[in-house]
Amino acid sequence: MVVTRRSAPTNLLGLDSAGLQAWFAERGEPAFRTRQLMSWLYRRGECDFSAMTDLAKTLRERLQAEAEVALPRIMRDECAADGTRKWLLATGANTGIEMVYIPESERGTLCVSSQVGCAMDCAFCATGAQGFNRNLDTAEIVAQVWLANRLLPPRASDRPAVSNVVFMGMGEPLANYRNLIPALRLLTDPLGFGLSRRRVTVSTSGLVPAIDRLAVECNVALAISLHAPEDKLRDELVPINRRYPIAELMAACRRYVGRNPHRHVTVEYVMLDGVNDSDHHARQLVRCLEGLGAKVNLIPFNPFPQTRFGTSPQARIDRFRDIVLRAGYMTVTRRTRGEDIGAACGQLAGKVQNRVRHRLGARMRSIEVNA
Ligand code: SAH
Ligand code: SF4
Repeated sequence: MVVTRRSAPTNLLGLDSAGLQAWFAERGEPAFRTRQLMSWLYRRGECDFSAMTDLAKTLRERLQAEAEVALPRIMRDECAADGTRKWLLATGANTGIEMVYIPESERGTLCVSSQVGCAMDCAFCATGAQGFNRNLDTAEIVAQVWLANRLLPPRASDRPAVSNVVFMGMGEPLANYRNLIPALRLLTDPLGFGLSRRRVTVSTSGLVPAIDRLAVECNVALAISLHAPEDKLRDELVPINRRYPIAELMAACRRYVGRNPHRHVTVEYVMLDGVNDSDHHARQLVRCLEGLGAKVNLIPFNPFPQTRFGTSPQARIDRFRDIVLRAGYMTVTRRTRGEDIGAACGQLAGKVQNRVRHRLGARMRSIEVNA
């Protein structure tokens, strides 16, 4: 007797158009199925194969048996006073990630996570303080955008809620490069979410080789988390600096911009009271940026429990901003959004994961067996 083993269904949200085309080809289906299916998935937000009426019935049945559109479970959904919305999503039995939607008059920005936790250990970041759990796969990254468009009302009849995506949630996206790239392709593919490259931003603490690869493979907008203008301080605040110091990082940014003459890099700089916010630091920052098309985002530090840092006073931030502005760099102080629900930059910590980690110490073996 021949026993055929049924493999797990493929989550279609994890396949970019080339991947989906290969998946159909393996099943003897023509290339145009890719366009048809992606139109259902991403134009119409449909995930029920039986509703895809322009596909042959036999194909719909095959999809039902061999594919799925698996979405994370929503564990919490909170709305801040300013309209910012935050969801806690289950990404496995014991782990959670957070995504945040920031509505503005001209756009709707979704801040997505790329990892459960983060290994980079930046001194001022709640996600870093949690440690690293695992990488999200492509489908788990893409599902965040898919889900948000489904959960939120469209901004206009033909415009879904999410117009911009920033990888500024939990995790270091460039440390999950392999899963990030197909997700970026789906976000920017006209058959997928159809966002322009300018509207998709990858934010990184500075993984130089991956920045160079990204420039070639999918040159979306780039933001770098600089946070200190000299190596000794940055070594402490952003430990990956010990591997890729500021000069190497800035050189990678110049190469990135060099490949896209109309582009700039966004430089993120968290304002930490008495740590990196003096006039001297501002002047050092200007020197770092020399010759680089850069916009500077000053982020008031968002506190979280047990942090040793404080937020710079407004007058200090304004003075710092003016020095950088006078040097010719567009500089804005980022308005903190969703602070009352812990949705601001660096506050995302997936509190469920937090509890699980506490319990893990005592129950490590039983959880491993149950997983
Ligand atoms: N890991 C990536 C993207 C996620 S963090 C990165 O570091 O770039 C998104 C931004 O929030 C980064 O600029 C990060 O440095 C900043 N951030 C982290 N903790 C913060 C905090 N407590 N207050 C303000 N900004 C913070
Ligand atoms: Fe990770 Fe970014 Fe937080 Fe640093 S700031 S620990 S890279 S999420």
